[in-house]
Amino acid sequence: MDVLSKASRSVLMGKVRSTGNRSTELRVRMGLVRLGVRGWQLHFDRVHGTPDFWFERQRLAIFVDGCFWHGCPNCLRLPKQNRTYWFAKIKGNIARARKIDAALRAEGNHVFRIWEHDLKSRAGVQRVMRQIEQTLNRCMPA
Ligand SMILES: [Zn+2]
Repeated sequence: MDVLSKASRSVLMGKVRSTGNRSTELRVRMGLVRLGVRGWQLHFDRVHGTPDFWFERQRLAIFVDGCFWHGCPNCLRLPKQNRTYWFAKIKGNIARARKIDAALRAEGNHVFRIWEHDLKSRAGVQRVMRQIEQTLNRCMPA
């Protein structure tokens, strides 16, 4: 017997998967280790939005945004079925992410968002790692 209705199941799955793609997050993690970057925490839940990576010293929140869940303009293909549902859901995710960014910045934090598609290739990962390094330097307190 299926306890969850179809709709609540997809909401639940949305919750699980919109917390971030494990494999892309792992690539960033490995990149940070390779660069010797320290002082970050995973899924830090004491600031808005529970960033995938949180750098306390720089007060920098990094999110890895899934192309589907965050409505990537390059990659998003809405499923043929339940388009209205998915459209509303993704729109909600985008709005929520904007609110999180605004709340973080209002408290003097920095925000850096990475698209999942930028982590698909090795060259892409290297580019993202360079951006992270630059952002960390820029956000370093004087
Ligand atoms: Zn994308």
